[in-house]
Amino acid sequence: MTQTISTIKDRIKAYKQHIDERASTLMGYPESMHFDYSPLSDFMNYNIDNLGDPYSDLLYGVNSCEFEREVISYFSNMYDLKSDDAWGYVTSSGTEGNLYGLFLGRELHQEAVLYYSADAHYSIAKAGRLLRMPMHVVPSLANGEIDYEALRDAIDANPGKPALVVATLGTTFTGAIDNVDKIASIFEENSRTDFYIHCDAALSGMMLPFMKEMGAPQISFDKPIGSVSVSGHKFIGAPYPCGIVVARKEHVERIQTAIEYIGALDSTIGGSRNGQAPLYLWYAIESRGRDKGFEQEVATSLKMADYLCERLESINYPHDRNQFSNTVTFDEPAESVVRKWQLARVRGRAHIITVPHANKQKIDAFISDLETSTKK
Ligand SMILES: *Cc1c(COP(=O)(O)O)cnc(C)c1O
Repeated sequence: MTQTISTIKDRIKAYKQHIDERASTLMGYPESMHFDYSPLSDFMNYNIDNLGDPYSDLLYGVNSCEFEREVISYFSNMYDLKSDDAWGYVTSSGTEGNLYGLFLGRELHQEAVLYYSADAHYSIAKAGRLLRMPMHVVPSLANGEIDYEALRDAIDANPGKPALVVATLGTTFTGAIDNVDKIASIFEENSRTDFYIHCDAALSGMMLPFMKEMGAPQISFDKPIGSVSVSGHKFIGAPYPCGIVVARKEHVERIQTAIEYIGALDSTIGGSRNGQAPLYLWYAIESRGRDKGFEQEVATSLKMADYLCERLESINYPHDRNQFSNTVTFDEPAESVVRKWQLARVRGRAHIITVPHANKQKIDAFISDLETSTKK
């Protein structure tokens, strides 16, 4: 069946209306739509592909590796990793960065047991399965942080086995921040070096560095961590999923292989890689991040979470929020409210994450819907 031009146009027009409407009431997932990448739209006419290692001199010239390297240096600086020791790339998502971090850890300690908390993102268990690692799920504390004592016991129960621990900085559901120092001390107290810590900082990797003055825990390679994964499409926001992974170069060198066909080293999970994403992230950093731009965006985001809590308080709707987080959890509302505001739910609870597109107007509209639905 061939479609006439008008039906194609009609479909696109209808989809545009649909997506506009859905985008205006998205509050349950931390996918910011507060961005304007229009100065980059011309580049959509090119097949920009960063195949291989962003630090190689690719034979494929239609690449954006120069921007990718700048994005990686921005993040590695932020996480106290010296440029000589730093390596990273722009991934397809936070999930890919987690798989990559775990891959590096598993290659360093091939017999390692993978430990992660019950509140860790589902990408961690998936990566563990893909890597065929023995896994141990550690219970979480009531706020969603990993239970450090239970982690210690689990590690002790595997004597002689190296450990790969995932620290989640900003858990998906409650925004809890696992304490990397407490995790590292479990090994340091026993003078153990056969461990690897991967930080999953999908959302908070772009928030904690800008909350330093508030005393928020920092992501730092001065601590014994091997890699950090951040989502690009969450706090920063992009028209497609993307992410950033930063790792110690020594771990990457262990897995690199030279590929003659591309004239580059192969050190990434993907072969062909989205060359638009590094350009877009670079643009966001340069146009929004400078002069305390991200710091202000983070401050506003936290203020909006304060505001949401005040409004929930005002209608006596019980809610919870972790320190240093823009995630507010509450009892799951009526189905109509869940659907309209696209709220993620887990065991009778739901949440709103006030990433930069969440403003007072939207919060007020949500509260009004919530009030109406509870009056019935
Ligand atoms: C969202 C999230 C991920 C996955 O990131 P994607 O970019 O969606 O693949 C991983 N970890 C945590 C804690 C998350 O919240």
